Amino acid sequence: MNILLLGSGGREHALAWKMAASPLTDRLVCAPGNAGIAREAECIPLDIADHAAVIAYCRASKIDFVVIGPETPLCAGIVDDLAAAGIKAFGPSRAAARLEGSKGFTKDLCRANGIPTAAYDRFQAADRAKAHVRTRGAPIVIKADGLAAGKGVVVAETVAEAEAAIDMMLGGGLGDAGAEVIIEEFLTGEEASFFALCDGDAAIPLASAQDHKRAFDGDKGPNTGGMGAYSPAPIIDDAMSVRVMNEIVLPTLRAMKAMGAPYKGVLYAGLMIANAGPKLIEYNVRFGDPECQVLMLRLKSDLVPALLASCDGMLRSLDLRWHTQPALTVVMAAKGYPGAYSGGSVIEGLEEAAAVEGVEIFHAGTIARDGRVLANGGRVLNVSAIGNTVREAQARAYEAVARIRWPEGFCRRDIGWRAIERENHRQ
Ligand code: AMP
Repeated sequence: MNILLLGSGGREHALAWKMAASPLTDRLVCAPGNAGIAREAECIPLDIADHAAVIAYCRASKIDFVVIGPETPLCAGIVDDLAAAGIKAFGPSRAAARLEGSKGFTKDLCRANGIPTAAYDRFQAADRAKAHVRTRGAPIVIKADGLAAGKGVVVAETVAEAEAAIDMMLGGGLGDAGAEVIIEEFLTGEEASFFALCDGDAAIPLASAQDHKRAFDGDKGPNTGGMGAYSPAPIIDDAMSVRVMNEIVLPTLRAMKAMGAPYKGVLYAGLMIANAGPKLIEYNVRFGDPECQVLMLRLKSDLVPALLASCDGMLRSLDLRWHTQPALTVVMAAKGYPGAYSGGSVIEGLEEAAAVEGVEIFHAGTIARDGRVLANGGRVLNVSAIGNTVREAQARAYEAVARIRWPEGFCRRDIGWRAIERENHRQ
């Protein structure tokens, strides 16, 4: 098959790495890609927001299958547009992508179908929203309804902070994404990410993961897109996985089908696990980044037939095999990230780093120039490793980090600490 992958981050590099290894792949093209993806696929400068241009490219280049990495094109309906042009694409339709595109939609779906989630109310007027916050008190969570590139959630410690978030969002600070806010009960417990592959009717669990959102060691500092991750999440054992499927994922699939928007693609459930069981924090309609990187390291089976089965409604007959060993990824970011940072610095030592046993380096934001690799983004590299324990995977990843010569970059030194503490307890 000729496959086109859309996106340019570490998630897409991991998907490209896995798909390039498939015997079903004749030709793999990525738009726009990055310097790492260019080792697995032919990278082309296509504007992926321009659906007509993507369709024209697919026709001209005889593309059989399109795989979409990020949420923005999915929420904009690229799968519908490709389908209308007769091109098969992996991911949800625009109507099904509302599970990520509108938090209000998802909360209402949970309420109507008895899916456990934080109690909530929806508001479009700031005065009513603030009155609600004053009645409820803090901590309380304020969320913009729409896609806000990770900036749409404020966990407010005080009523004043909550009121400021309401003013920012409903005052247009996030554009259309903040035209409505959801005010939510603050949940306690341990967070984990759960991934399921769905074909409209059936779903199969992939693997679980946990990520580190804060920029600095000890889970301190500003929120980021994710500074590292590991899989599996120790808190999601087999029994918990069954509960998440039965209480959250499958009722969602039934509800989406009943409303005429069957869900196909990866469903990424952000969960809060407490004694009473799992609660849904949010859905994403694509693989997580950097969680995808650790999932792909652990996936033994061919990815391409799994993605095709999701499109074709054939997941019931699919059996995926996983390495039982854990995997871990350390994000190397440009100094200053998630604030202002500069690009263009030279990264060296990548080959020596990749030679460490069990290590795979995925590029998140790089470009190649004159035979050198340059930083080209906030999150730049995902130094990933598999090992017999999380501790071993972590040691391998940091050994590789130590071989990378990039003074303008930084990373956290404690990725996986919670899972390693659990391992230490077990010994
Ligand atoms: P989201 O984008 O909805 O995943 O929210 C980003 C982060 O905010 C989550 O990963 C949680 O850490 C936190 N968060 C969101 N909703 C809640 C909630 N209801 N209670 C506690 N923390 C939350």
